[in-house]
Amino acid sequence: MGAPNPRPLLRIPYTTALPPPTIIPASAATLAGAVDALVEFLTATLPFSASSSPPSEGKGKTLILTGAGLSTPSGLADYRGPKGTYMVNTTYKPIYYHEFCASHEARKRYWARSFLGWPVMERARANGAHRAVGELVKGGWVEGVVTQNVDSLHTHTLPSSSPTPLINLHGTLSTLTCLTCASSLPRTTFQQTLTSLNPTWTTFQQTLQTTGALSTESPSERAAKGLRTNPDGDVDVPGLSYTSFRYPACPTCVSSKNADVKTDNEGAWILPEPIYPTPDPASSSSALSSSSATTTALSPKSPDAHTTPPLPGILKPSVIMFGESIPGPVKQAAERLVDSSARLLVVGTSLATYSAWRLVKRARDQGKPIAVVNMGGVRGEEALFGSVCEEDGGVVEGAVRCSLPAEEVLPALVKALEGRAR
Ligand SMILES: [Zn+2]
Repeated sequence: MGAPNPRPLLRIPYTTALPPPTIIPASAATLAGAVDALVEFLTATLPFSASSSPPSEGKGKTLILTGAGLSTPSGLADYRGPKGTYMVNTTYKPIYYHEFCASHEARKRYWARSFLGWPVMERARANGAHRAVGELVKGGWVEGVVTQNVDSLHTHTLPSSSPTPLINLHGTLSTLTCLTCASSLPRTTFQQTLTSLNPTWTTFQQTLQTTGALSTESPSERAAKGLRTNPDGDVDVPGLSYTSFRYPACPTCVSSKNADVKTDNEGAWILPEPIYPTPDPASSSSALSSSSATTTALSPKSPDAHTTPPLPGILKPSVIMFGESIPGPVKQAAERLVDSSARLLVVGTSLATYSAWRLVKRARDQGKPIAVVNMGGVRGEEALFGSVCEEDGGVVEGAVRCSLPAEEVLPALVKALEGRAR
């Protein structure tokens, strides 16, 4: 109990249909009822079971786990739409980590879409739900905040001097990290370079802005204008070719004169010259006797086809891409917060990613009360709440489940807790 799970936490998409939401207690169908239940959830004195971690300082506080639903009022898309039961982008195929590392073309596609979507991400501001999380932290109710969001919006609403930890489980879009030298670069700097390297794309982006396609707060309106937006900050414009897009090499690698980093005269990363393997002298005569063999022997090998290690000077967003493992220290810090918290409040997430679901399951396995505020169903809903309503009281006491907007529930919860000592 409490020991870090040695298995890696992979970020993987989950596209299975979700069950309809359970409502616990029945009165949580209304905002007032849900808030009453959550006040009880946060303030109840808990009898800790034998499976709970031993008492320590901070015992009794709540771990808050948040997801994309918290940021939709800030104009950012989520993966499942307002009802939470279907995929907004049914054809959305996120880039996987191994593709990004291995393929120049995949990186062009990623950065072109990300370039177009960045103004939406940069313009997004924290909303009432983020501010309410900050108020709960100030009020001393919170052991820690773990977010799956990569938009960094929690950062602006948590007290700067607070010791309460914030864990960005899937990283942040606000910086990039070099796959070679691990140096960091602000995304705003990187975006400026993308702008200068891609004048035609910049004009296109300005057109999107002019038509209001990117400025609307409504993901559905963007979809009506032919754009698909995603929570990771990228925009998909159907029919576009990404091959002309250029992205810079790591400036630290370039300035350190890492000779293996290849750029054009404006600093855009380019593939090294194709490698022509030297024909094996022992087989050269037979190779020349066969046209197909000759063709094979002289075909350039794409250096990009070699996936490990990646070619030098490649910058990657500091997010955990799909198919990428969460770094061990981040995973363990999140698990420790589960272990040291008395209860878990899940907000604005369907727990579609395995990494988040695993944390909730960990809390459930420790017998800790769980509250879920999410529009629509949640992965593993029956496993979390299926037996709670049974006459014997169920296996998890104190559970709360409502299907209401976080930006309504959390501020109302803060108000209801005013004057309450924890
Ligand atoms: Zn570098």
